[in-house]
Amino acid sequence: LMDRGLVNGFGAAKIAAATSWLSDEDARAADALLEDRLEGKNSEQIRKAASHVAMTVDREGASRRSEHSRAGRRLTVRHGEAGVASIEVEDGPVEKVAAAYTRIDREARALKTGGEPRTLDQLRADVALDLLLGGQGGKSERAEVFLYMDLATYLGVNEGPAELAGHGCIPASVAREIAGGPDTVLRRIITDPLSGQVLDLGRDRYRPTAGVGEFVRVRDRECRRPGCQRPAQACDLDHVVPWQFGGHTNADELIDLCRRDHRLKDEPGWIYRLAADGTLTVTTPTGQRYDSSPPPLHEPRMAEEPPPF
Ligand SMILES: [Zn+2]
Repeated sequence: LMDRGLVNGFGAAKIAAATSWLSDEDARAADALLEDRLEGKNSEQIRKAASHVAMTVDREGASRRSEHSRAGRRLTVRHGEAGVASIEVEDGPVEKVAAAYTRIDREARALKTGGEPRTLDQLRADVALDLLLGGQGGKSERAEVFLYMDLATYLGVNEGPAELAGHGCIPASVAREIAGGPDTVLRRIITDPLSGQVLDLGRDRYRPTAGVGEFVRVRDRECRRPGCQRPAQACDLDHVVPWQFGGHTNADELIDLCRRDHRLKDEPGWIYRLAADGTLTVTTPTGQRYDSSPPPLHEPRMAEEPPPF
């Protein structure tokens, strides 16, 4: 693919990193699966596709590797000069780390009002330490992490990788452990085993009610600007067609954009179009066009291989 100019060195490095733990035989199988899936994808989409394929060809290995990593979690303190030190949770379970960051970030942003002189970085550090020391951090609000897994995997009859919004793939065994646990920070989203699209909030059954924002967040998972990975629950809901120009508040006309990309969209010269199937076309001021779809959990599967239930 590199010889034919279809994948650049940066994209190839993402594949190498995502598959480096596979055996030679499994790596060849991963190559064969990836070959048709890379054309036209950006480096982040390539990383996700490679990570998904690597976990697919060696499911047991992915599960062992993940359990091993999670067993190595620890808390470290590094002492600096001039009255500072750093504290870090290393290799913590990703669902808890992501939820913790979301909570800290949300409370820091709530404190960032007009008269607040601290930067967001400073506020996040202050909120985190305050929470560790038994304080409330700021305004208290529950943080959630979205876990996407297909129905068959959830039921334990399939071992397909699941995906954690804002992070990427995790092995089926870990996903089931998380989904079945008493964790209140987690929101699990079950997807159709064939199409990979969201099942429990399916488009066909959707009626535009108070749940519209929730549906759009679940559908989009992350900021919809191609390449941006901020989780949807930390994003703004944006009318593709501005309200004052005839836009409507329904799922066909709303997308998730992080604050930064939301501002960028409103700059002159940027054009956003949303198709009925959720495909977003972004045209930049220089006339380049990028298409992106809400990400299915996996590539569509063959209908002749029905799930075994
Ligand atoms: Zn963004």
